[in-house]
Amino acid sequence: RRQAALATASHPAVTTDGVRIEVFVNLGSATDARRAVEEGAEGCGLLRTEFLFLDRATPPDEEEQRAAYQAIADALDGRPLIVRTLDIGADKPAPYLPQAAEENPALGLRGIRLQLARRDLLDTQLRALLRVKAPLKLMLPMVADRAELAETRRALAKHAADLGMAAPQLGIMVETPAAALTAASLAAEADFFSIGSNDLAQYTLARDRTNPAVAAGLDGLHPAVLRLIDETVRGGNAHKRWTGVCGELAADPQAAPLLIGLGVTELSVPGAAVAETKALVRTLNLAQCQALAARALIAADAHAVRALVSEQGQ
Ligand code: PEP
Ligand code: MG
Repeated sequence: RRQAALATASHPAVTTDGVRIEVFVNLGSATDARRAVEEGAEGCGLLRTEFLFLDRATPPDEEEQRAAYQAIADALDGRPLIVRTLDIGADKPAPYLPQAAEENPALGLRGIRLQLARRDLLDTQLRALLRVKAPLKLMLPMVADRAELAETRRALAKHAADLGMAAPQLGIMVETPAAALTAASLAAEADFFSIGSNDLAQYTLARDRTNPAVAAGLDGLHPAVLRLIDETVRGGNAHKRWTGVCGELAADPQAAPLLIGLGVTELSVPGAAVAETKALVRTLNLAQCQALAARALIAADAHAVRALVSEQGQ
């Protein structure tokens, strides 16, 4: 299947009724960017910048960061690059970030919370990103409050003005139930949404994704998660903002018809899944996906949702 998909990898992903879905790649380093493009990635929908920050004694300075981001942008050769600002803290500690022990690290000082508590880290990263020459967009991890986005946007505008540059688009990852439920309000301030289904499922189902005793039951196709995705897309659409998915769900063949049926227009997947995701999209029909999604939203649990999708032959 992968071989067949690779044959058409450079073609766009369009449903049988003509709806274009962007298929992007998730990157965690510079090395896989070029390969992903060869396999059909239309851009990077999630650059996890933590790779630059972990396993070292001091944080990377502005110039080191700029050069690393520029190298990835160059490998993408003019394609869009969506960079997630630093998502460390809690279970991904860095030695130069003295953190108090936390009883519940997943609910602790991480993502945008840590960056706003350590403005030096945020400011350096924003300046490095502003200096990258590429079609760049930024997105913030773990947002739960509109104020977090507003404060970051002010910082971005200030650095852009200092550097004499235009600020890039600023979106958010939707990975807390709070962000999904207040999407209509956040969309007034966010340029786009990208659903982090790994964390969104973890927080919605109250199952620690790092705990093997409970993680196996963590399925993003649970109707509770699907309803939050539905709410996010609706909130975004009210302000003409697009919604993508960059968590694992985006590469799950049973999830794709539901996500597209709910109105998601961008799927960002690991490099190895790009070509097959594009091939799958070309077999789908939006009207059928919408009908399927409507039934999934009122299903009892993730098993029932998967059974519904299987009945449709996916
Ligand atoms: C997610 O939570 O779905 C996501 C894409 O971010 P990460 O897996 O890096 O937490
Ligand atoms: Mg996440």
